[in-house]
Amino acid sequence: MAQQSPRPAVELRNLVKHFVDPHGEIIVAVDHVNLTIYDGEFFSLLGPSGCGKTTILRMIAGLELPTSGSVLIHGREMADQPAFRRPVNTVFQRYALFPHMTVRENIAFGLRMKKVPREEIAARVDEALRLVRLEKMGDRRPGQLSGGQQQRVALARALVNNPEVLLLDEPLGALDLKLRQAMQEELKRIQQQVGITFIYVTHDQEEALTMSDRIAVMNEGVVLQVDRPYDLYEEPKTRFVADFIGETNFLDGVIIDNDSELAHVQLKNGQVAHVLHEDQILPQGTPVTLAIRPEKIFLGVGTPPDVRNVFNGRVRNIVYLGTDTYYDVALPGDVVVTARQQNEDYTGMAATVAIGDPVYVAWRAHNASLLTE
Ligand code: ATP
Repeated sequence: MAQQSPRPAVELRNLVKHFVDPHGEIIVAVDHVNLTIYDGEFFSLLGPSGCGKTTILRMIAGLELPTSGSVLIHGREMADQPAFRRPVNTVFQRYALFPHMTVRENIAFGLRMKKVPREEIAARVDEALRLVRLEKMGDRRPGQLSGGQQQRVALARALVNNPEVLLLDEPLGALDLKLRQAMQEELKRIQQQVGITFIYVTHDQEEALTMSDRIAVMNEGVVLQVDRPYDLYEEPKTRFVADFIGETNFLDGVIIDNDSELAHVQLKNGQVAHVLHEDQILPQGTPVTLAIRPEKIFLGVGTPPDVRNVFNGRVRNIVYLGTDTYYDVALPGDVVVTARQQNEDYTGMAATVAIGDPVYVAWRAHNASLLTE
C-alpha cells in the first residue's frame, strides 16, 4: 500500500519581519524563513536569545504581522485572519491564569466566551483535566498550585479549545531543572495522546533534543538547519549548529587531496586528518573545519594502533565530571583536542592518566563532520 504523505499543518513562505529600534535602525528579526511543519509533529524552533524564534511564533499566532511573506495553516493563507480567528492556541512562559477563578473556571473560560453549551463545557474540562493529570485539583485556585501544576492548567486551557496547532513559547522556562525534566516527558506524552501539532520555542538544546520530532536551528533570523535530533547531533551542517548543539572540537585546515571515500585535510600544525567526504568533493586548498564530538575521540596510552587519524600528544588538563572525564590533549603545534571518556569503564583510564603524560588520540573518519561554513 502506498504510504500517505504527511499533510502540512503550518507553512512559512519567505517570512520576513523587520522592527525599527528607537534610533530608527531596522532590526531584521526574521529573515526569509521557509519551513513546513507537518500534522502531528512535535517541532521545535531552537536558537540563542534574540534569534527570532518568538517573532515567528507570534506571526503564526497572528499577534505580529509579517513585513513580507506568508503563513499558511492547513493550506489556508492567514494574512487576513486576526489572531482570534486562527485555529491555534499559545502557551506562554508566564501562565497568565486568572487568580480569582478556580482551575475549572480558568480552563472553561474560552469555551464560555464562545457560548459552548454548559454540559459540553463540563465534559471537555473534565477531559482536559484528566489529560494533564489534575483531576483532583479542579476546585483550587492558581495560588494554591505549584509552578508545574499552574503550567499544566495553562496547557489544559489551551488544549480544551481543540486547536489545530498548539504554540508553546518557552513554557517550562520558569520551572526548576527537575520539574522541567518531568514536564518535558509530560508534554511529549500529552502531544502523542492528542496528536495535535506542537510548535515549541526554546533556547535549551537538551530540551529540544529530548522532545522534538524535528528541530529548526536558528541564528540571527535565519534557519540554518532543519533535521531530526539524531541528524542534527551526528551531522551538523555548519559550525554554528555543531557548536550550539552538544560539545564539539573544531579543527581548522585545508583540503590537500580527495580519494574515492576520504578528504585529506592538513591541519594547522601540518598533520593530516582524514574524513569521509560523502561525495562532497572540495577542491585542493579549500579551507575547512573538522567537527568532532569529544565522546567520539578515543584516548590511549602506549603504542598507537596503525589506523587513520591517530595523533600523539600530551595531556594538558583533566576535568572529572562523575560519569565522565574530559581530557584536553595538546598535539604538536599547539592544536588541542578534548576527549570525553566514560568513567568506570574497563580501560580504567581515569586512574592511570595524569596531566603531562604522553597519550594518543584517535577517531574514525566517519565521526568527523567536514564543514565549510
Ligand atoms: P528570546 O529567546 O530572548 O525570546 P527570540 O529568539 O525569541 O529571543 P525574538 O524575541 O523573536 O527572539 O526577537 C528577535 C529580534 O527582534 C531581537 O533582536 C529583538 O530585540 C527584536 N524584537 C522583537 N520584538 C521587537 C519589537 N516589538 N520591537 C523591536 N524589536 C523587537
